[in-house]
Amino acid sequence: MDVNNIWKLFLEKIKNDLSPMLYETWFMDTKLLKIDDHSALVMVPMHIHKKHLKENYYDFISNIFTEITGTNFDFEFITEEEHNNNIDINTDLLGVPKTENFASNLNIKYTFENFVVGDSNKFAKATALAVAEKPGLMYNPLFIYSSSGLGKTHLMHAIGNYIIKNSSKKVLYVTSEQFVNDFIDLYRKNKDQNNISNIEMFKKKYRDIDVLMIDDIQYLEIAAKTQQEFFNTFNELHTNNKQIIISSDRSPDDLKQLEDRLRTRFNWGLTVDILPPEFKLRLEIIDKKIAANGISDFFEKEAKEFIASNCTSDIRKIEGAITRVSAYAAMMNYSKISLDVADEALKDFFIKSIISQNKIDNVQQIIAQSYSISIEDLKSKKRNANIAVPRQIAMYICRIVLKESLTKIALEFGGKNHTTVMHAVDKISKEILINQELEKQIQKIVTKIN
Ligand code: ADP
Ligand code: MG
Repeated sequence: MDVNNIWKLFLEKIKNDLSPMLYETWFMDTKLLKIDDHSALVMVPMHIHKKHLKENYYDFISNIFTEITGTNFDFEFITEEEHNNNIDINTDLLGVPKTENFASNLNIKYTFENFVVGDSNKFAKATALAVAEKPGLMYNPLFIYSSSGLGKTHLMHAIGNYIIKNSSKKVLYVTSEQFVNDFIDLYRKNKDQNNISNIEMFKKKYRDIDVLMIDDIQYLEIAAKTQQEFFNTFNELHTNNKQIIISSDRSPDDLKQLEDRLRTRFNWGLTVDILPPEFKLRLEIIDKKIAANGISDFFEKEAKEFIASNCTSDIRKIEGAITRVSAYAAMMNYSKISLDVADEALKDFFIKSIISQNKIDNVQQIIAQSYSISIEDLKSKKRNANIAVPRQIAMYICRIVLKESLTKIALEFGGKNHTTVMHAVDKISKEILINQELEKQIQKIVTKIN
């Protein structure tokens, strides 16, 4: 049976299990592109399908597909656009004399092109690109660290994809867990069979390469035996000028459980960190992601600001918020994603604590305290900058972070006109893009409110 017929059967089957709305939204326009031994590649119309199917329908799809084919498949989803680009990439690669089927474990969706750069990550990006251009020669090892969701894995894959596209070098990306598992596997098998060929296979995998990337090295802390093996692997590669790239949630010096000799080696090359994204970068990332999903026109400015001001320290969370809002708007048939729609969709997504019954009250108290002015002044019509600016900041926070209505804010600030509030919000949202000090101040206040 050819792939089209298999997929037709599949779609007929799932149609019975889903409401027409869900079926039409998520499955109707999908297509099975190919199946190999144990993997199936499915083309979907938009990015949002890809993410949604992967995160919410994976088991469902897999089970039904297995019922039809009698075999378990790993599913990959690809958008039409990516599929077309992919063909280009493949033809590029045809010219390169390549190792046969070498499994790099790279994800083509992470590239330098779609890594958005701002003050907090530009150094990491630049060094990553430098290493990608000259593996083994620039900074060896390259050690990238940051808290979760700030782009370490993205950058590593971007380096790998770049190298593979532009050279015939062998790249291997693994998580440290995988390295540990491979090693434990080897150890076990060896005990049973005393089999030299397993060791050879392990060495071939990890040493017969040009670039080794180990993601989340902190998990190596709990595996003492594997640390020794990693030490040997590291030395072998490093001596031969093979590039090593490591990521971690901490700096090398803070990997306290790691052997000293490993920590020392991590400091041989270059260590870079990625900081939490500044407001401007968060907005740019949102812009880029919604453009990639083809939904820029639907998103109103305030909705974007709402997401940017509520997801301050994790880009993964920004992506989650966008997906959720888009899916929600699609499901509810909204033609625009306004601040209200975003708030509705993300109600449970952002953990908001309700400290005070009247949130505006609370903001006013905190602002008054922070800027050493009285609440009376804050509500007054006084125009001195030392009062007017905190007032505008307070209005901005009430509107964008707390999502109070313009009218209500106007009322709570001494019965002003709602256009005054609009003007204040607009002014601060422009200012915040160019004034990092202001951004920090606002961040601090928002933290206090929460
Ligand atoms: P980490 O490995 O540091 O936990 P990831 O690399 O997995 O973080 O990033 C989390 C998500 O955020 C990924 O989907 C990634 O593509 C995205 N991301 C992170 N940084 C950026 C950036 N600068 N531009 C665009 N997307 C980013
Ligand atoms: Mg990661």
